[in-house]
Amino acid sequence: MLEIKNLHAELEDDGKKILKGVDLKLEPGKVHAIMGPNGSGKSTLSYVLSGRDGYEVTEGSATLDGEDILELEAEERAAAGLFLAFQYPVEIPGVGNMTFLRTAVNAQRKARGEEELSAADFLKVVRAKAKTLKIDGDMLKRPVNVGFSGGEKKRNEILQMAMLEPKMCILDETDSGLDVDAMKLVSEGVNALRDEGRSFLVITHYQRLLDHIKPDVVHIMAEGRIIKTGGPELALEVENNGYADLLAEMA
Ligand code: ADP
Ligand code: MG
Ligand code: MG
Repeated sequence: MLEIKNLHAELEDDGKKILKGVDLKLEPGKVHAIMGPNGSGKSTLSYVLSGRDGYEVTEGSATLDGEDILELEAEERAAAGLFLAFQYPVEIPGVGNMTFLRTAVNAQRKARGEEELSAADFLKVVRAKAKTLKIDGDMLKRPVNVGFSGGEKKRNEILQMAMLEPKMCILDETDSGLDVDAMKLVSEGVNALRDEGRSFLVITHYQRLLDHIKPDVVHIMAEGRIIKTGGPELALEVENNGYADLLAEMA
């Protein structure tokens, strides 16, 4: 379980305060969604959890199964079972997608004290998982994300997630720039990974993604805090009425 308590974070550069006391509890097997106006700190929350440089936590805690993740390096967080979609968004010319995946999987296994997968075993697993995401052999051989369309990059990201089998998956705006078909494929990929032992934090602007990835819990974030928590109906309410009422309530 990921437990975030009173998390405060600011920009390292200029001390701008962005997270102002985030409280969240994500139980295993559940899908939580976060919605909220632009600039409310949703992406910052995912960056802080994943250990991206440039942010300083000034107060509060975040633990994964009791382990303080804020103390860990980004690689150690991945080994502990945290996955942030967009963690590997970069194009890597010269490195084949398959080689990259194998390196990531084996680095994680090593960090967990597990044996590396043999080339043959790896190939079997990656081909099976790629097939369900309609990622063909050619895409597996091409350099990582180079020349991939937006939809292909997102599907590739879900493949990375499927290979790393994380406990806690954070998807930040994974629907942005996707056409309906690509969004369906990505959603199906996520849904196939839903599991009792795995939880998801899905950050999105639009309710439509939540038609495909059905959340158990919906949170609204504004001005660096969670201001309201409810069921899936809360996402519909926001879609219909916008954030004005909720922000007025908060004020
Ligand atoms: P959201 O994802 O909810 O739209 P963000 O977390 O991206 O919000 O941003 C929250 C606020 O912090 C915004 O006002 C944004 O401009 C600011 N911010 C976040 N990261 C940076 C950064 N690296 N440099 C400058 N401002 C930033
Ligand atoms: Mg954002
Ligand atoms: Mg740092």
